[in-house]
Amino acid sequence: MHPKIEAVIDRYGVTDAARAFLGEEHKLYIDGAFVEAASKDRVPVIEPSTGETLTTIAAAGKDDVDCAVAAANRALAGGDWAGMKSRDRQRILLRLADLIEANAQTLGEIESLDNGKALGPCVEMDILGGAELLRYMAGFATKIEGATREVSAPGSHFAATRKEPIGVVAAIVPWNWPFNMAMWKIAAPLAAGCAIVLKPAEQTSLSMLYFMKLCERAGLPKGVLNLVTGSGRAIGDHLVGHPGVSKVSFTGSTEVGRRVGETAGRALTPVTLELGGKSPMLVFADADLDAVAASTRWSVFFNAGQVCSAGSRIYAHRSVFEKAVTKIKQVAEGMVMAPGLDPACDIGPVVSASAKANIETYIRKGVAEGARIVCGGDETPGDGFFVKPTILTADDNTLSVVQEEIFGPVVVILPFDEEAEAVALANDNQYGLAASIWTRDISRALRLVPRIKAGTVWVNAHDLIDSAMPFGGFKNSGFGKDMGPEQLDHFLRTKSVWISVAEGDE
Ligand code: NAD
Repeated sequence: MHPKIEAVIDRYGVTDAARAFLGEEHKLYIDGAFVEAASKDRVPVIEPSTGETLTTIAAAGKDDVDCAVAAANRALAGGDWAGMKSRDRQRILLRLADLIEANAQTLGEIESLDNGKALGPCVEMDILGGAELLRYMAGFATKIEGATREVSAPGSHFAATRKEPIGVVAAIVPWNWPFNMAMWKIAAPLAAGCAIVLKPAEQTSLSMLYFMKLCERAGLPKGVLNLVTGSGRAIGDHLVGHPGVSKVSFTGSTEVGRRVGETAGRALTPVTLELGGKSPMLVFADADLDAVAASTRWSVFFNAGQVCSAGSRIYAHRSVFEKAVTKIKQVAEGMVMAPGLDPACDIGPVVSASAKANIETYIRKGVAEGARIVCGGDETPGDGFFVKPTILTADDNTLSVVQEEIFGPVVVILPFDEEAEAVALANDNQYGLAASIWTRDISRALRLVPRIKAGTVWVNAHDLIDSAMPFGGFKNSGFGKDMGPEQLDHFLRTKSVWISVAEGDE
């Protein structure tokens, strides 16, 4: 580990378990064991607040993917998992949730060092939120049910449907919520009785490597959850198109998601795609502007803006536009930029040098196209990948900073005059992940909810998330849902069962 990272750790402190884990050699997890990648290749892991190397992870190749998919199929073909009662499956998931809770601080510290995010919210939302989702989905393990059907076919029949686990799931997750997104991907298929090959993002695999130790302690049978780390470009196509995979569940960018969809389509494998976003916040003249401004701390700048549903374009009614800009600026300027482990941290570094460069390019491009900087926007000197919270204003909905996902702490604020215009501006975008409406007029809110083309619409809030509420986008934000009862169906297939009933003697 680089001395600059050691200095960060010494300064803020981490648990002994986190320190010991960071010193280990990180391997793949296949068929219930940590194993080296066949190629023995490694990928460096960069700590974002220093830009230095934290450790390395194993770079899985196609052979390793084959081993992982085979192990998952074996787990479904017979043995402990295939034969397990749903009650016992539920218990394992509940035990896992308890173990996450008991190790939340360690998991959070590992995540913060790996991704850069602020530790407090990371423990609260990413880690403990993940435990809650496991508990929520655990309940469904014992409630999977088919139906009996009255049929009119000639003869006499008992007809019923049964729900069966779909098979082996390839789950692929991004780097912005490494642990939490992984829980979004594994909780429902585990409850359904599937087996999984999980591919974390190459930038952020550490928390899931630690989690695999918890799976062993919870008694998850071997082969049920396999972890292949390394480059998505190297193994993604192979995993997604693998004949041993029965379902693909992907969260990431729209660009990669499109490719994943194509590969899965060619293999005739069902796929769900949770993709990018550019979520609007519509602020009407009667909105509580203090509430709007306060929400941007989470809805815009949280996780350094690396949130798929971030409210990264705000449309404010012209009569309150200046006031809204001023209040949001106060929030942005009050946010403390620091390494994620620093208890004072509101906004940590972004994940990588290339992410930082990409965000800065967008800001420059926005200004060149006519956007005006209200605050931030200039480069942050020193180590690490810090980007200042940045507010732009603009009048033109076609600007790249309004239309494209920047995935950083950057918001653009535009004025509107009429309700219909606000809806049109909000819908004038390739994405449809989420949106929020800010008004005290309940009729206006109810009128607009059906007209907004987004998978989630909040009123007088933004970015509320709950295990019970399905999350997923419309348009180029993908299809399918994570969380809620709706997600379970993606991992079950329906079998129709007919039993002919012979005529009796009488
Ligand atoms: P990304 O698309 O670059 O990578 C996502 C995952 O795909 C990574 O694990 C990567 O290794 C893998 N991958 C890369 N090439 C692949 C291929 N050819 N086949 C299969 N997998 C491949 O995304 P990212 O930069 O890690 O994450 C940021 C994106 O994720 C943003 O666009 C964000 O909006 C989106 N996101 C969406 C949601 C949601 O719920 N809709 C949630 C979080 C993040």
